[in-house]
Amino acid sequence: MDRETMTAVISQKERIKGCVFGQAIGDALGLGTEFMSEREVRTYYPHGLKYYQQIIQDAHRSRWAKGSWTDDTDMMLCIADAIVEDRGTVDYNHVARNFKQWFNHKPMGIGRNTFKVLSLSDYLADPMMASSLVWQSGRCQSAANGALMRTSIIGILGDPQKDAENICRLTHADPRCVGSCVIVSSIIHGLVHGNGKIPDIEEICLLGDSFSPEIRNSLYFETRQSSEPSFKYDLRQLNLSGKEDMGYTLKALSASIWALYHAKSFEEGLWEIVNAGGDADTNAAIAGSILGAKFGFNSIPTQYVDGLTGRSRLETLYNNILNIL
Ligand SMILES: [Mg+2]
Repeated sequence: MDRETMTAVISQKERIKGCVFGQAIGDALGLGTEFMSEREVRTYYPHGLKYYQQIIQDAHRSRWAKGSWTDDTDMMLCIADAIVEDRGTVDYNHVARNFKQWFNHKPMGIGRNTFKVLSLSDYLADPMMASSLVWQSGRCQSAANGALMRTSIIGILGDPQKDAENICRLTHADPRCVGSCVIVSSIIHGLVHGNGKIPDIEEICLLGDSFSPEIRNSLYFETRQSSEPSFKYDLRQLNLSGKEDMGYTLKALSASIWALYHAKSFEEGLWEIVNAGGDADTNAAIAGSILGAKFGFNSIPTQYVDGLTGRSRLETLYNNILNIL
C-alpha cells in the first residue's frame, strides 16, 4: 500500500486529535529556534533540534517551560473554546471576546499586529472595523501570519471558507491573510471531513486567486514542481529565516504546503521546518496541524505528546470536539 492510500485508512478521530496536538507540538518545539538564522540554529543545535529538552534557555525562550506552546496555540484555543461553548455554532463576537480576554492577561509572544488591534479600547464594539483601521494605518502593507497560526481548528469545527475569513478579519484585514486562512482551513477540512483528501496545487492556487494574486506567486516552487516533474523542491529554497519577510503570512503558508506535499512523516516535516529557523513556532504550528491531520495522532511519536506541559487541556478539547461533531 502506498503512502497516499495509507493515509485514507486513518480514522476521522485520529485526524482530529492529530491536528490539535500537531499544532501545539509544532508551536512548542518551534519556540526553540524562533527568530534564529540557519547559522544560529546550527550553532545551538549542531545535530538539529528534535526534542523539547534541547531547547536553549536564553532570555526569549526561558520565559516558557520546555514543552509549552506559545500565543499561536493560545489563540487557537480562544477560537476552539468559543465554538465548543456554543455547541458548534461559530459566533465571531464570542471569539473576539475570548481574544480580548486573553490579551487582557498580558500574554507572552503576541505579534505586533495582533497587539495593536487588541489594545484598541473599543475593539469589542466592532472588531473587524478595528482590525481594518489598524491595517489602513499601516498603508495596507502588513500581512502578518498571526491569523494563519490559529486557523487550524476552523478546518475541524467551522466553515473553512466563511468562518476562516471572518475569524481572520477579527485581527487581520489584509486579503493575503484572509486567503491563507481559507486555504489552510480548507486543507484541514478536506483531511478531516473528506477522508484524507489532499487538494492539488492548482486547487489551492485557485482558492488563493479570489483573494490576492500574490498567493499564487508565493507558491512558485510548488507550481513549478507540478509543471516540471524533474524540478526538486527543497524547503531551503523558501529561506524561512530571511529577516526581511519573517512573519509574512505567505511565507508560513508556503512552508505548510511544502510540508503537506513533501514531508514523509509527521516528525520529518516538523524537524525540517523547526530547523529552518525564522518564525519557527508559527511555521511549525501550522505545518504541525496539517501533518497531524494527514498522518493521524497515532503517527506522532509519544514523547512529543507526553512532553507537552498543557497536554490535559488538549485532551479535554479533543473530547469536547467529539461531543459536538
Ligand atoms: Mg508564538
